[in-house]
Amino acid sequence: MLKNVVILCFMAKQPVVAVVGHVDHGKSTLLDCIRKTNTTEKEAGGITQKIGAYEVGHKTSDGNERRITFIDTPGHEAFSCCRKNASCAADIAILVVAADEGAKPQTIEAYSILQKNKIPFVIALTKTDKPNADAERTKQSLAEKEIFVEGYGGNIPVATVSAKSGNGVSELLDLVLLLSDMNEKHGNKKSTAEGVVLEAHRSRTKGICATLIIKNGTLKKGHTLLAGSALSGLRIAEDFAGKPLTEATNGKVAHVCGWNELPSVGETFIAYENKKEAEEAARMFIEELKRPHVIKEKKEELEKLTVPLLVKADTFGSIEAIKHETERLGNEKVLIKIASAELGNVSENDMRLAESIKNSVVIGFNVEVDAPARKRSQQSGGREVHLFDIIYRLTEFLDEEIKKRTPKETKEEIAGQARIIKIFSETKQTQVVGGKVLAGTIALGNEFRIVRRGEHIGTGKIKELQKMKEKIREVAEGAEFGALAAHSIPLAISDIIEVVKTVEV
Ligand code: GDP
Repeated sequence: MLKNVVILCFMAKQPVVAVVGHVDHGKSTLLDCIRKTNTTEKEAGGITQKIGAYEVGHKTSDGNERRITFIDTPGHEAFSCCRKNASCAADIAILVVAADEGAKPQTIEAYSILQKNKIPFVIALTKTDKPNADAERTKQSLAEKEIFVEGYGGNIPVATVSAKSGNGVSELLDLVLLLSDMNEKHGNKKSTAEGVVLEAHRSRTKGICATLIIKNGTLKKGHTLLAGSALSGLRIAEDFAGKPLTEATNGKVAHVCGWNELPSVGETFIAYENKKEAEEAARMFIEELKRPHVIKEKKEELEKLTVPLLVKADTFGSIEAIKHETERLGNEKVLIKIASAELGNVSENDMRLAESIKNSVVIGFNVEVDAPARKRSQQSGGREVHLFDIIYRLTEFLDEEIKKRTPKETKEEIAGQARIIKIFSETKQTQVVGGKVLAGTIALGNEFRIVRRGEHIGTGKIKELQKMKEKIREVAEGAEFGALAAHSIPLAISDIIEVVKTVEV
């Protein structure tokens, strides 16, 4: 029996875990706490750059040494790939809820993403060291939002932790591993690797690099990787701590440099033993993009009003998150399109570019605006810069912009109709006429259409309006009036004049 347990533990998968939840509820602090406590000194020393994921060791309460991979990108990015490919980098999630605040909008949003993508998760009640923390009240607040944890009408496992003191974190990791073992789908280590691109960036010294999470199979030196149309050999491959990597399996993080183009974050990757096969698959991928249905979609896009976004952000992860948000925004008339997305502060050059692009909007995410750019923005014709540090605020802003820019549907309504009953005098361009209002009102300054025998034959304008020889501004239904009217063709007795107004529907 014991032997079986040992074998099971040996074979058990290294889970890939994402931490999600409302802003400020303690996601980053929890990730920091786990990284500091559960990585060896050597590993920690090797982590010289943020690659979007790291691995930790954990000794479970029953004494087994296990490894867990944590996705270190804040918030939604960990699930960006779920939206795109129905395949997630993460196998398991920790939904963080601050015990001094309870369920908040992003708690509920994250919960529904987890549910939709069927990702097993644990709820971590954080900040339990705070004097106003109340775990029971928090569980109750979750139940009120129909998130039912164990003991509160549901079966979602829950752990109480403090990322400040580290209390409860070990039990949380036990729970994560238990959940992973219970939900394990047995992968095939013998096949070549496949998985998800978690991060991608250009490095000045190493070329194009990407962080990969292996979801199945084994990655070996000599393989060729394909993600979308991006190809890479495995010449420079490192683990999360910067150590050279010759082989990696399910659940592991691989940082691979030397891609021929920037792979998309959230794209699935496949490893090929044969380089030619990988190149052929890349060619087919590009062919697929050129197929007629793709071209038709592009044409439909062209017919919409496009709002080009110029994005400056702090990380590629942020850029990807913004891309995913913008993909689902827009309506049948307005298309939000990222015209450019780069790292760094908003510069004067960005402002110059924005001014040259019609309708463009400048967005900064977790960055600042350089002084010359700010100055240029304040000049006439300059573009306003919109700064954000929370993705859902950016989404709210874009939703508002779309509403503002959506062309309004309008229709014409008849505001007044009158019959011409007398022509008193006329010059080349004006006539003095007598009339009777049949419907609505006729007012000074109104422009009208001339209708004769049911047909629109010309237009005119009320220059003066009189009733019983007194100048007035408006006549109502049933009343007779005299008017000085300008016209495009002379009015005749029995003509109908129609005042039309355009209203939004
Ligand atoms: P995130 O936006 O979800 O990543 O939240 P952060 O990790 O940045 O935490 C937000 C704030 O809560 C910071 O000021 C943290 O120091 C604080 N915080 C996070 N976890 C704890 C905790 O367990 N105890 C206490 N007392 N404060 C915490």
